[in-house]
Amino acid sequence: MKRVALLGATGSIGRQTVEIVERNPELELCALAASTRGEELSKIASEHDVAHVSLGGEPALEELIAASEPDVVVNAVVGFAGVKATLATLEAGIDLVLANKESIVAAGPLALAAQARGGGRLLPVDSEHSAAMQCLAERSIDTVDALVLTASGGPFRGKTRDELKQVSVADALAHPTWSMGPKITIDSATLMNKGLELIEAHYLFGLPYDRLRAVVHPTSIVHALVQYTDGATIAHLGYPDMRVPISYALTFPSTAPTPCKSLDFSEGLELTFLPPDEDAFPCLSLARAAGETGGGAPCVLNAANEVAVAAFLEGNLPFLGIPETVERTLARVDGAVVNDLDELLALDEEARAVAREQSRELAT
Ligand code: NAD
Ligand code: MG
Repeated sequence: MKRVALLGATGSIGRQTVEIVERNPELELCALAASTRGEELSKIASEHDVAHVSLGGEPALEELIAASEPDVVVNAVVGFAGVKATLATLEAGIDLVLANKESIVAAGPLALAAQARGGGRLLPVDSEHSAAMQCLAERSIDTVDALVLTASGGPFRGKTRDELKQVSVADALAHPTWSMGPKITIDSATLMNKGLELIEAHYLFGLPYDRLRAVVHPTSIVHALVQYTDGATIAHLGYPDMRVPISYALTFPSTAPTPCKSLDFSEGLELTFLPPDEDAFPCLSLARAAGETGGGAPCVLNAANEVAVAAFLEGNLPFLGIPETVERTLARVDGAVVNDLDELLALDEEARAVAREQSRELAT
C-alpha cells in the first residue's frame, strides 16, 4: 500500500488524483490540503478516512507532510505557494509527484540539491514531462539532440499581437483542448506555460536550453518528442487527459490501467505542428531567457507572472500587460544567485512588489 499526501486536493489535478487513487487498490490517501472549499475537502477526508487535513495553511504543508508520514507527496498546489512543500518533501527523501511546476521553476537548484540529499524520486505530473520521461527512458541523455515539448497554442493561436490587445478574461479562459485551473489556463493563453515548462524540463532532465524546444500542436495528441543524434525521433501520444500522467507518476516504476481511451484511428488522425509565434506571445522567449540566465531569474519571472495573471483575472490588466509586466520586472529585479530558501522567499517578495507596481502602471 502506498500512502499518498495530496496537496491541492480540491483543484483540477487534485480531483483527478483522488479519482486515480480510488481506482487503484494499492494507493490510499493519508493527508489532504487545500486553501479554500473546506466542505469539499472534508467530504474527501471523510470518504477516505483521512485524519491529517490542512485548510487555508493550517497546519502548514510541511507540518502536514511530517505528521502524516506519506510514501509519496502529490504537490498539486498552484503557484509559488507550493515551494516549501516541494523542498520539504525532497529534503525528507519522500517521493514527490510534482504538478506544481512553479516550485521547480522558482527553486530549481535548491530543489535538486534537496533531492540529492534526500534521495527520493521526483516524478512530473505535466503531460509533456511525463511523456518526455518515457521517451527518454531507453537511451542515454548524451544521445539526445533535442527534447521537443508540444503546446496547443491556447485559445489565441493564430492571432496577431494587435488582435490580442482587446481579448477578454472569458476568451482567455476558453482553452481548446485542456480543462484546467484558471492560472494555468491563462498561462496557456500567453504561452508562459510552455516557457515555464522549458525551465521545468531543464531542471528535470538536465538538458541545456539549446536542446529544448517548443512546438505548437493544436490537438494536443503528441505530448513530447525526443530527437536523437542518430536521426530517430521518439514521441508519446494520447488524448489530452491528465489522469494518464497522474497514474504514471503514482505507480512508477510499474503501471496500472486507467479509464482513459486509447487513440482511435478509425476516422483517421492528422497531426499538425507549427512554430510558435514569439512576437505575439513573448512570454515564451522571456522564460527561455530567464532560464538561460539562471540563478534567481526564473523565480523573478514566475513571481511577476503570478502577479500579472492575478491582475488580468481580476480585470485590472490587459492581456498584453502580462508579458509587459514580466519583462519590466525582470529588467528591474536582480535575480542573482539564490543560496537558500530565505533568499528565495525574499527575492519572490521583491519581484512581486515590483510587478504589482508595474502592473498598476499598465492597468486597464
Ligand atoms: P487549481 O486552481 O484547479 O487547484 C489548485 C489547488 O491548490 C486547490 O485545491 C487549492 O485549494 C490549492 N491551493 C492553492 N494554494 C494553496 C496553498 N497555499 N496551500 C494549500 N493548497 C493550496 O489548479 P490546477 O489546475 O489543479 O493546477 C495545479 C498545479 O498543477 C499548477 O501548478 C499547474 O500549473 C499544474 N498543472 C495543472 C494541469 C491541469 O491540467 N490542471 C496540468 C499540468 C500542470
Ligand atoms: Mg503541460
